[in-house]
Amino acid sequence: MGFIIIVAAITSYLIGIHYIEDPQLIALIVLALSGTLFIFAYVINVSFEKLAEASRIRTEFVRIVSHQLRSPITNLSWAIDSLMAGDLGRIEKSQLEYFQILKENSSRMKELIKDLLITSRIEEGTLPIKKEKIFLIEITKSLISEFLPFAKASNVEIKFDFDKNLPEISTDLNQIKVVIENLLDNAIRYMGKKGEVKINLRKREKEVLFEIIDNGPGILKEDQKYIFQKFFRSKSEPGSRETSLPGKEKGGTGLGLFITKSIIEKLGGKIWFESKEGKGTTFYFILPTK
Ligand code: ADP
Repeated sequence: MGFIIIVAAITSYLIGIHYIEDPQLIALIVLALSGTLFIFAYVINVSFEKLAEASRIRTEFVRIVSHQLRSPITNLSWAIDSLMAGDLGRIEKSQLEYFQILKENSSRMKELIKDLLITSRIEEGTLPIKKEKIFLIEITKSLISEFLPFAKASNVEIKFDFDKNLPEISTDLNQIKVVIENLLDNAIRYMGKKGEVKINLRKREKEVLFEIIDNGPGILKEDQKYIFQKFFRSKSEPGSRETSLPGKEKGGTGLGLFITKSIIEKLGGKIWFESKEGKGTTFYFILPTK
């Protein structure tokens, strides 16, 4: 803005000496113009600072609230589990249905709080990253086995293939788990019918490529540009449906892919996808080996 003020002052002076003879009048015009621009710049600057501050306060507020909500929700889940197990007396079948609803809703709240906490950390730039040597094949295998009950309940088969000479990579174990969990969860959740999810791990020069291919409904063309945006959820979610598995009920937060992309970029990688309506979706990410 300072540069613009200087240029405007010089330009108005050069134009002024062409058309106005009185040097005092020229000086007055240049001064008035510079003064106006200066006030303008000041107002813009203050507005931006206020916006940045408001955004910082909002992010901090979300982080604190999510953090504070974690313990009561965990206690609530624990109490529901204990009641359902009959620890405090026998539960009637009709009561059990209501407890199941409570359990599902507390799991959803837990998911939302977890996602909000990660999102606020990403926005504050405080997401903890601790790199170590990891073997992606083992991690993927163990996550697939964790997802098997959900896949089975959703009628989805999971296949896994990998290059035998896949190198170790230097990355953050916890964060990469969040990434794979989000992608696998989406691929199963949005399938909407009997289907197949295939995961491939490939060796590239100085990189490892992760592919997750599903033959689900695909992502609508008009939705594709928003897919990594915070809170984006496609309105047509043929795959989103009820399951009896806690934490895997209908609905999501719309934060999963935003978090996934932010983590991959923070780890020095790249993520993208291809999707065809009615055919399926493939998400890819690459991570550097070092
Ligand atoms: P969430 O799953 O919590 O809604 P995400 O950020 O993980 O949020 O996903 C955003 C949206 O992208 C989802 O609501 C869904 O509409 C769409 N989506 C993501 N993955 C897939 C997929 N594999 N197939 C079809 N749609 C998908």
